[in-house]
Amino acid sequence: MTKVVKFGGSSLASAEQFRKVKEIITAEESRRFVVPSAPGKRFSADTKVTDMLYGCYDLAVKGKDFDKEFEAIKARYNEIISELGLDLSLESEFEIVKACFIGKAGRDYAASRGEYLNGIVLANYLGYSFIDSADVIFFDEKGQFDPVKTGRVLSERLAGLENAVVPGFYGSMPNDTIKTFSRGGSDITGSIVAAASNADLYENWTDVSGFLTCDPRIVDDPAPITTITYKELRELSYMGATVLHEDAIFPVRKAGIPINIKNTNKPEDPGTLIVESTSQKPAYTITGIAGKKGFTAINIEKDMMNSELGFGRKVLWEFEKNGVSFEHMPSGIDTMSIVVSQDAFADKEQEILAGIHRNCQPDSIDIETDLALIAVVGRAMKSNRGTAGRIFSALAHAHVNVKMIDQGSSELNIIIGVSESDFEAANKAIYDIFVATKL
Ligand code: ADP
Ligand code: ASP
Ligand code: MG
Repeated sequence: MTKVVKFGGSSLASAEQFRKVKEIITAEESRRFVVPSAPGKRFSADTKVTDMLYGCYDLAVKGKDFDKEFEAIKARYNEIISELGLDLSLESEFEIVKACFIGKAGRDYAASRGEYLNGIVLANYLGYSFIDSADVIFFDEKGQFDPVKTGRVLSERLAGLENAVVPGFYGSMPNDTIKTFSRGGSDITGSIVAAASNADLYENWTDVSGFLTCDPRIVDDPAPITTITYKELRELSYMGATVLHEDAIFPVRKAGIPINIKNTNKPEDPGTLIVESTSQKPAYTITGIAGKKGFTAINIEKDMMNSELGFGRKVLWEFEKNGVSFEHMPSGIDTMSIVVSQDAFADKEQEILAGIHRNCQPDSIDIETDLALIAVVGRAMKSNRGTAGRIFSALAHAHVNVKMIDQGSSELNIIIGVSESDFEAANKAIYDIFVATKL
């Protein structure tokens, strides 16, 4: 039995957290391959080492003095090393990193040192081999992850080892420079290592007891989700439930490896199991709720729109031409709305609107900004009639005006558009009606 265990930043933020991590790893022999993040926040006002590195490197690139900032980063590691009583010095590593900052080795290089150095510390503490991810995780010329080369090299490397620490978040480009995944990308490394080692399970250890039915920053102590499918999880992560990087699903899904989200601070909690499919009925009609702010709706009206062949295509073409992708497109007989990300649209607004006026001749275009989208996701919604109705009445009761509703054809999700100012109230109302009232 092989398990790959990934520990997030808060799980490795201090010597105390390192001790918990070691206890978890050594509790089961199957926990063979370990993927650490960089040290995260020790308390809510703290700064993650990754952010310290970005800040420090930006000073270096501008030719400004960065000694103080660099010393603060060194102090994070040195404190962990000394409190754990390790026979380890990172001084020569720090010197190399500093020289590369001065030599402008790149922002990705800078950020990746957070995981790299933490990996060295953790490997020393556990007595495991350290594998530099630059030697086993590869990107192609275009900066896309290269699964074929990575799979080959990494599998071979892991096959010869009983245990190893592989730092998260980065790999190397064909020209040997360092490249990172996007923020939160250590989750992806964990998934890649799980696939390459043919693991039975990918455990992702964080600071919550699994995927929760709602964002814990909006609802106090939401109920955890016991089992969730990859599809449901993808819908929720895409909409902002960022417990797990959304790209972390693909490598393990292909290999049929389940993911278990676990809490480093409460290892006895079962957490959430993420699987391809399950016969397990969810505890509630909905599996979870997630949402994001920052959307704009472009509402277009034209009499007889429905019978005008190619109207929708012409409208969408104006967005495509300008490189703006759309999130949703609810439509009526004479109306259609295109929901887009506010930031992406703002840059191209006038070009797109002029294009629609010129090429589609609508009766009117109305723009609604500051929208939030909320995804209500659940595999059980299909077999439970009246879910949309219950959402509407809960929102009406909470005095939330629903601006848009869009049900995915798979009946796995219902997307609701509300004003940003109603976002929190809407989340709470939906949570209350489906989850809290059943607790
Ligand atoms: P790590 O550093 O371990 O990778 P992250 O910060 O990336 O951890 O992810 C865990 C955080 O995700 C939690 O602390 C929580 O604040 C946030 N979060 C957002 N939505 C949810 C949700 N639905 N369930 C659980 N956690 C959530
Ligand atoms: N340390 C990186 C970040 O803060 C990657 C990760 O934690 O997954 O984004
Ligand atoms: Mg994370």
